[in-house]
Amino acid sequence: MKFIPYGKPCIDEDDIRTVVEVLRSDWLTTGPKVAEFEQAFAQYIGCQYAVAVSSGTAALELAVASLNLGNGEVITTPMTFVATANSLLYNNLTPVFVDIDDTLNINPEKIEAKITQKTKAIMTVDFAGQTCNYTEIKNIAQKHNLKIIEDAAHALGASWNGTKVGNIVDITAFSFHPVKNITTGEGGMITTNNKELYERCLMLRHHGIDRNDKTFGGDWAFNMKLLGRNYRLTDFQCALGISQLKKLERYNKRRQQIAQQYTNAFSKMPQISLPIIKHASHAWHLFVILCEKIDRNDLYKRLKEKNIGANVHYIPVYSHDYYKSTHNPAQQPCPKADDVSKKILTLPLYPTMTDSDINYVIAAVQDSVKELTIAEAP
Ligand SMILES: *Cc1c(COP(=O)(O)O)cnc(C)c1O
Repeated sequence: MKFIPYGKPCIDEDDIRTVVEVLRSDWLTTGPKVAEFEQAFAQYIGCQYAVAVSSGTAALELAVASLNLGNGEVITTPMTFVATANSLLYNNLTPVFVDIDDTLNINPEKIEAKITQKTKAIMTVDFAGQTCNYTEIKNIAQKHNLKIIEDAAHALGASWNGTKVGNIVDITAFSFHPVKNITTGEGGMITTNNKELYERCLMLRHHGIDRNDKTFGGDWAFNMKLLGRNYRLTDFQCALGISQLKKLERYNKRRQQIAQQYTNAFSKMPQISLPIIKHASHAWHLFVILCEKIDRNDLYKRLKEKNIGANVHYIPVYSHDYYKSTHNPAQQPCPKADDVSKKILTLPLYPTMTDSDINYVIAAVQDSVKELTIAEAP
């Protein structure tokens, strides 16, 4: 029997052909496909600049680095993948965790209480693909003169009040890991409308080198101005990205249909809380449910027995050993994130799920919940 994972890349013959073409060309890296992918991406988002990098984590690290924030604190959400907060630590910044609200995004009402003299920025995450409330968050940032960095690893294609994610805040990071809405294998993208940040990201991706600086001589000369990295994305990956980007809207529409089918199927089940959607636009990277009165780990196990790979997104960042040893979660209590992380379960959602896959998952969840309700009744 086939296994249905929680997420899966969609690679078709077009994707393969375009990658093979590049493999047969003169450029494996730093060739024409990089700029072509960046331009197509910026055009899709409607922003001015895009910088392709080797992963979503690299995109986050460079986005933060480009802002030159110095030392200090950055307000962020604990309900995310560890890479979000790690990107702050790489830049000698301290994450300050603010609790989530019913949308599972950072609660804008709780941000101001955590702002101190040391606060430099707010780093948001659009959990599962639903955008944060950027009207409120931008107001707070403006009032306190803070930058906003957006981790949009889940939210490619979503928007806020008609503005696409990637064009809303100071700087945005995307991921093209295979489970994300489009993939380049590994890969990421930074978007911004700020020319200075753009130029710094370009340099930081390539060792901090400015190729236009001819201080040392002629055409061959370059000057290293910042402590950069090698976070370049290859040309064949960019070719895959160009091909994938063309299909994003279709993929996201299918994701939305699947989410709707789950919503219809589970809306009358008291043991399941469905995602609370406050805004129409959602990229549906993940479909998460909250288990009420049944044990999440038991449901996970029952689904696994039925060949369904559910998953958990996320254990709060501060609960991981590394953060426990360096941060004191007691100083930054996030009771809602703690509660949600015990109940949350991610169900399979990817564009190539067939209707029979979806119906199979729905029946399996309904059956498992029934079994557990009987088994766990007091
Ligand atoms: C996937 C993900 C990342 C990291 O992206 P990589 O491309 O795997 O480095 C960062 N933040 C969030 C919220 C993610 O889901």
